Amino acid sequence: MTFAEQDYIKAIFQLEEERNNTILTNDLAARLGTKASSVTDMFKKLEKKNLIIYKKYQGVKLNEEGRKAALKLIRKHRLWETFLVKSLGFGWESVHEIAEQLEHIESDELIERLNQFLGYPAFDPHGEPIPLEKGKVWEAKSQKLSEVEPGNEYILDSVVQPNDEFLKYLNKINLLIGTKFRINSKESYDDSLQIQIEDQIHVLSKDTTNNLKVRKHGA
Ligand SMILES: [Zn+2]
Repeated sequence: MTFAEQDYIKAIFQLEEERNNTILTNDLAARLGTKASSVTDMFKKLEKKNLIIYKKYQGVKLNEEGRKAALKLIRKHRLWETFLVKSLGFGWESVHEIAEQLEHIESDELIERLNQFLGYPAFDPHGEPIPLEKGKVWEAKSQKLSEVEPGNEYILDSVVQPNDEFLKYLNKINLLIGTKFRINSKESYDDSLQIQIEDQIHVLSKDTTNNLKVRKHGA
């Protein structure tokens, strides 16, 4: 697979995870910032390589092989992110772009040794599960912060879309993976949440609470 093909496979996988629905040409064009005609060309290539099921006007789906390939890329990506943070001291807000490059390295032995070196981590620095070699993914028992009710204490488990700017914002308010906080109240006008981390109070927008996964403290 070329790097571009790998990026498509990963993007289709992520869209499928988000939407639970068939993915259309335009969805992918928007996600990858490219033209619909290039997407169609790529679909034909991926179909020839037997990685997707593609029906004109009905969109695209990964087949078993495509799914395996996507999970392998995600596994490599998340192991590299873990390495960059744990072993090289990068901040969690500055590893994604580097991991986008590193995930394309082919060597299975390198990844196996990296995994061993890191002590077989289950989660990456953004709290996302690292798929196992055979493609199994841990199911985290967490829910979106936007879906929980005020009045309890929660632990931040993971960031849904860990883009760098968002992570910098979390750094600023000291809301990191494993941070415990109380939800004081919810504003019914715009669904913003007032949370408290130790004695610091912050108001989180709906965009923010939709992008965070939490579990109840002590659960
Ligand atoms: Zn990443």
